[in-house]
Amino acid sequence: MKMFLDGKWVDRDEKIEVLDPFDNSLIDTVPSGNDRDVETALAAAVRGFQITKKMTVYDRAQILFRAARLIEERLEEFAVIIARESSKTINEARKETSRCVNTISCSAEEAKRILGETIPFDSFPGGEKRRGYYYRFPIGVVLAITPFNDPLNLVAHKLGPAIAAGNSVILKPATVTPLSAIKLVEVLLEAGLPPQAIQLITGYGSVIGDPLVADERVRMISFTGGVEAGKHIAARAGIKKIGMELGSNSPVIVWKDADLQLAVESCVSGAFWAAGQNCIGVQRLLVHNDIYDEFKSAFVERTGKYRIGDKMKEETNMGPMITETEAKRVEKWVNDAVAGGAKLLTGGKRRGALYEPTVLENLPADATIHHEEVFGPTVNLYQVDDLDEAIKEANSLPYGLLAAIFTTSIDVAFKASYDLDCGGVMINDSTDYRLDSMPFGGVKYSGLGREGLKFSLQEMTEPKVVCFNLPGM
Ligand code: NAD
Repeated sequence: MKMFLDGKWVDRDEKIEVLDPFDNSLIDTVPSGNDRDVETALAAAVRGFQITKKMTVYDRAQILFRAARLIEERLEEFAVIIARESSKTINEARKETSRCVNTISCSAEEAKRILGETIPFDSFPGGEKRRGYYYRFPIGVVLAITPFNDPLNLVAHKLGPAIAAGNSVILKPATVTPLSAIKLVEVLLEAGLPPQAIQLITGYGSVIGDPLVADERVRMISFTGGVEAGKHIAARAGIKKIGMELGSNSPVIVWKDADLQLAVESCVSGAFWAAGQNCIGVQRLLVHNDIYDEFKSAFVERTGKYRIGDKMKEETNMGPMITETEAKRVEKWVNDAVAGGAKLLTGGKRRGALYEPTVLENLPADATIHHEEVFGPTVNLYQVDDLDEAIKEANSLPYGLLAAIFTTSIDVAFKASYDLDCGGVMINDSTDYRLDSMPFGGVKYSGLGREGLKFSLQEMTEPKVVCFNLPGM
């Protein structure tokens, strides 16, 4: 496939191979973008903004509604691309595609709700004859940088609101999963997006990242990815707006009065969805002592039933990790924890990029798998006795995207929802629940700002004040 720069699909001699992580078969190649491509993208995006900022809300919304319909009509095509280039099973990929339809349609709806307000200039002496208002105008060129784990919907979370707001966009999709993003850009163009409105540059973050990020023509960077890349980008960005959706190490409290069957089902899915490569995947399960043994045996038994293997088979529950190198990293983190005293309850074996769903307990405090984001199919169990202690443990790490609690007590649920230090608390769901239109983002190292279409639109627009001085009034 090709990249899309300055209104044309373009290729380069230097290519990046896109491989299926299940068997390493070659799916396709994409051009490896270089410095000159970066300059082409930046210059074209600036020209593109002169077009997009004049487009009406009606036109922007119609393009997005048409794109959403096209994706829905081609749902299976999109799902196959996601399932092949990423870790997801075909069923997980279908769900991601239907969420993408919702993300793009909600962007269209939100385009119609970019509102301003009148300003009471007469609220301070001197303003008696002044009248005015503010409205929100598009920020300019948005640089969207996206990760591998939701290769379609996380791209839609940037392109949808950027287009709805009237911005032009430069998209740099994940190096290993660019194909779903390319297909999305094809659909947006087919739906009527002016070609100048979007630049799609494929390549290595380490090569094209810095010149894109540092350039003053970019007015906002909307980044989703790991903390290390996030820190690197923030250090180079200079004076521009930055939205960061980063990693986490999500805690779930299972209180003594919880519906255990619900908690087990929900947390097994939440821990192993997309082979655990999920920013809101369950990593730490803090279980009340009174129900610990019962919960543990049900959780381990359910985990053992997970079918792993070929992503394209309907019956497969979990596919491989994105690369064998990543699976080896997780294997090492588990082995190191076990060597330090952790107990392996199930899983722990690797075949190529496939790593078994794994459950650990008795984690030493210095185990990397306890305090870092694992981004793999493993989950840690801890025993807790007291709610304050559980909340303190949940808050103890420098991440805070989503947290969750299973309880049937309204008091416990309320206390947890106030005291958990994070961007959102799920009650009687695992952390792996997200409605695409809700405000989504984290505190501490989990991010800066919020996505979720209405909230992304706020981030991607700026208020402009208009004040009339009316001396003849
Ligand atoms: P990553 O940080 O390795 O890469 C993300 C993107 O950044 C890729 O497109 C990559 O090419 C690019 N990149 C890397 N270095 C760059 C640089 N120096 N300059 C510019 N771009 C650069 O992340 P990943 O492995 O693709 O994704 C996994 C991470 O993403 C996890 O930490 C996960 O938690 C996080 N994530 C967060 C959310 C969220 O919404 N909070 C959602 C999904 C994933």
